[in-house]
Amino acid sequence: MPDNPALSYPITGRPEVAELLEVGPGIYWIRMPIPIPGLEFINLWAIREDDGWTVVDTGTKSSKIQGWWRTIFAEAFGSQPVKRVICTHFHPDHVGQAGFICDLFNAPLWMTLTDWTFGRMLSLEAASDVPDYVMAFYRRIGFGEEALASFRERGFNNFAKSVEPVPTQFHRIAGGDSIDIGGHDWKVIIGRGHSHEHASLWCPDLGLLIAGDMILPRISPHIGVYPGEPEANPLKLFLDSFDSFRPLPADTLVLPSHGDPFVGLHTRLDQVESHHETRLTALKAFCAEPRTALDVLPVLFKRPLDMKHTFMAIGEGLAHLHYLAAEGSIERSLGSDGIYRYRRTAVQASAA
Ligand SMILES: [Zn+2]
Repeated sequence: MPDNPALSYPITGRPEVAELLEVGPGIYWIRMPIPIPGLEFINLWAIREDDGWTVVDTGTKSSKIQGWWRTIFAEAFGSQPVKRVICTHFHPDHVGQAGFICDLFNAPLWMTLTDWTFGRMLSLEAASDVPDYVMAFYRRIGFGEEALASFRERGFNNFAKSVEPVPTQFHRIAGGDSIDIGGHDWKVIIGRGHSHEHASLWCPDLGLLIAGDMILPRISPHIGVYPGEPEANPLKLFLDSFDSFRPLPADTLVLPSHGDPFVGLHTRLDQVESHHETRLTALKAFCAEPRTALDVLPVLFKRPLDMKHTFMAIGEGLAHLHYLAAEGSIERSLGSDGIYRYRRTAVQASAA
């Protein structure tokens, strides 16, 4: 059961697949399996309205998940329609079935502009060949020809494979908005770094926070640098976003996208912050000598990584290196072999 002893877990049990478990008045927890290693399930939320339902997040593209949704619509929803789909961000496990549900009920999709646009773009970008700029990005990291060939083989349409086409129209939500859902005001809180403009929903009346992927009880959300924005500093954006969550009351019940609902928002923010601080400190020490991004992975990840996980992990490695580079603790140079190396700056070295 719950495995973070610093948090408390007031909800007893978990909903079976295709069933609803009430976690607040008219607020229901839905749990669906997803094919993402290490996550296994995504939590989705259904909020009862006068004349139908608002659904928050939707699951990845799969006929099984569509089948479970149909069961929920027919049974738990009592044949009341879905009036609105809200997606916290563009990642496939959140937006993957939005197209299906919106089509079925002719319901609008509510999202932030950036994440809707990004999801639309990625679903249209589905090329079978990996573009040259992507290969060049991974070559500078230091991957050998064999690894690059295996990456090339995987193709470039992984996003489109895991989502139903993202709806062509949407209704914009933005930070600070108040949305009436089920007769209560829910405030939109923007988080960055995990996705570009991630929307969490906070209901002060009910003391509930639909956190999405921004605050998870067990794992720290994936923070990565990708070829489309090679100089990004997402870890800084992510940690800065915590300021928007800290003013919330301590007894807020956090409804995360992965793991069990919990109380202990501030404790969890502190834990995740110190997790990254520990990793940054270890990286800084390790970069006393010039290191490639591949070299630093064992400092960040204790378990051995296969090729697929290495490509995920490298984004996370770069996020930490870019954070340190932006604050001036390390500097990057391009070697004669065309590979980036990172080394502690002279100021840092003498201070250590
Ligand atoms: Zn996500």
